[in-house]
Amino acid sequence: MAKKILIVGGGYAGFYTAWKLEKLLRAGEAEVTIVDPLPYLAYLPFLPEVAAGSIEPRHAVVARRRHLKRTANVAGKVTGISHATKTATITPNEGEAYEFAYDQIVVTTGSVSRTFPIAGIADNAIGMKTIEEAVAVRDRIVGNFERAASLPAGSAERARLLTITVVGGGFAGIETISELRSFATSLLRRYPEITFDETQFHLVEAMGRIMPEVSQETADWVVKDQTRRGVNIHLDTQLSSAVDGKIELSTGENYESDLIVWTAGVMPRPFLRGTDLPIGPRGHVIGSPTLQITTEDGDVVEGAWTAGDTSQTPDISSTPGPGGFCVPNAQHAVRQGRLLAKNIAASLRGEGVAEYNHKNQGAVAGLGMNTGVFQSGKFAMRGYIAWLAHRFYHGLAIPTWERKWRVFGGWVGHFFLGRDVVNIEATQQPRAIFEEFASRPKPAAE
Ligand SMILES: Cc1cc2nc3c(=O)[nH]c(=O)nc-3n(C[C@H](O)[C@H](O)[C@H](O)COP(=O)(O)OP(=O)(O)OC[C@H]3O[C@@H](n4cnc5c(N)ncnc54)[C@H](O)[C@@H]3O)c2cc1C
Repeated sequence: MAKKILIVGGGYAGFYTAWKLEKLLRAGEAEVTIVDPLPYLAYLPFLPEVAAGSIEPRHAVVARRRHLKRTANVAGKVTGISHATKTATITPNEGEAYEFAYDQIVVTTGSVSRTFPIAGIADNAIGMKTIEEAVAVRDRIVGNFERAASLPAGSAERARLLTITVVGGGFAGIETISELRSFATSLLRRYPEITFDETQFHLVEAMGRIMPEVSQETADWVVKDQTRRGVNIHLDTQLSSAVDGKIELSTGENYESDLIVWTAGVMPRPFLRGTDLPIGPRGHVIGSPTLQITTEDGDVVEGAWTAGDTSQTPDISSTPGPGGFCVPNAQHAVRQGRLLAKNIAASLRGEGVAEYNHKNQGAVAGLGMNTGVFQSGKFAMRGYIAWLAHRFYHGLAIPTWERKWRVFGGWVGHFFLGRDVVNIEATQQPRAIFEEFASRPKPAAE
């Protein structure tokens, strides 16, 4: 009997697990099913560039049905797991929830934005964790330029539309604010009605420094470089309130901002606490270096595996992350996914499993057009060369050649034709024009 392997979540870790299993499993050895409400893996490091119009949104996602040919794809969410009975509850995007029996389960549900109860954030801010958010941010910026251009110069509404706030000075936050600043600067060429000084960009960071993944020297360089480009970086500052876009900072500063992007941290999905899987103090599934789920005492939970952002995997390399666990990044998710597939195949065959031991290879970030940073140990690159390294690394890292070609093709197109500034925000109301002119039946006579 073929064993049933259920992969919960088809992002980085889940996609790579399934992809590798397709290569490793012999015919009839196991059936693999992947459940995810979205039909694609989103290549999250590209989100800031999608938001800045440098990458087409569709190019930054990888369709699972095209590339996972021997895996059953289910469009829906796993909403419950009873590992004691080896059943998962699947709630499909359409139709009734049902129970799915499995032999092996792989939990790779990633993470969501972690917010704090700051007034106005839940109602007014947006994250930078999904392709939908990145597209909405891009459309909002171009749409706001359009709206602001027709308002009187100096009006409060115009100033609000042209003010952008990003909360969180980690990698995602810094990449987001820098890409958006770079995008807005390039938009100014098409909107002569708006001046550079009217476009205000604020980065709010509670700590005294940004980007903990790079050295202090590199972080200081980024602050200086981005300040020169027109980003107002508030260090040692907390966001106190954002009600109706009225920003209040812990320093006493106030201003109005139409677009607030929240990037200050991530957390595992809360539904996991309702399952019978062992969960750590911060909501992660407790993992082990072999990527098997374990109890708090370290006993292996048979037939259960985890990887990526959702897992609390001990980092046994020579460069462990905070608390001794692997940090939530794609470097780990991809490599863990591949090893997880190997370990599942080995365990099905009664062979030994290997431990995950990956030494951090460094960090690379794009900080708007033609500038970036790269840091590996003490070695750092800044500016144009680092930006090229960022583009080459990520252009080649997105899974499948089909996607790599699309991304590089887009960049080449932009090099010759410039950034695409077209605003198709109206796609959010696609029926509006049809409905306006559509004939309706006359009301029946009395
Ligand atoms: C803006 C940004 C920039 C980044 N840049 C970098 C970078 O430069 N380098 C780097 O190494 N890392 C980077 N990261 C981090 C990296 O993208 C993540 O660590 C990585 O995506 C984690 O992979 P994952 O498989 O754990 O989760 P994800 O890739 O998020 O996948 C999780 C999947 O699970 C699905 N899912 C969720 N709940 C359920 C459920 N109940 N049932 C079924 N499916 C479910 C989701 O729909 C999703 O498809 C960045 C992240 C962001 C947000």
